[in-house]
Amino acid sequence: MCIFCKIVAGEIPANKVYEDENTLAFLDIKPVNPGHTLVIPKKHYQNLEKIPEQELSFLILMVKKIGAQLKDKLKVEGYAISANNDLVAGQIVPHLHFHIIPRHEGDGHEPWSRREYAPGEAEEILKKLKG
Ligand code: 5GP
Ligand code: ZN
Repeated sequence: MCIFCKIVAGEIPANKVYEDENTLAFLDIKPVNPGHTLVIPKKHYQNLEKIPEQELSFLILMVKKIGAQLKDKLKVEGYAISANNDLVAGQIVPHLHFHIIPRHEGDGHEPWSRREYAPGEAEEILKKLKG
């Protein structure tokens, strides 16, 4: 059983923010900023490809609801939503989850570094994507 399934099963404690029949949201144990929340389906799906569309639709609505709750109750100005999909993208826990990361002016977090496209590179990518 994965660590998030253990939280769902009540075998590991968590600071629960929201719970319904299908969804659990709890505070990340190592927050980027205070209020950093993880939103998960109670059923174990490894990533976005595995979860059925209807369950994903419900889950993302819960992300929206909890984001609004963070704004309202914690006076968070804005938040970043991220899902590290697969190990190479930084997914450590193999149970689909959305991070809701409260952001505030001057908090100093730069999510990821950027690069420029080489000449013709973007066109090549579009060709592959659309081909
Ligand atoms: P990932 O890198 O897989 O997208 O993020 C996993 C997140 O889960 C990390 O931000 C990490 O701090 C959090 N996490 C890992 N184990 C636990 C735990 O036992 N309890 C809680 N509340 N968060 C956890
Ligand atoms: Zn799991």
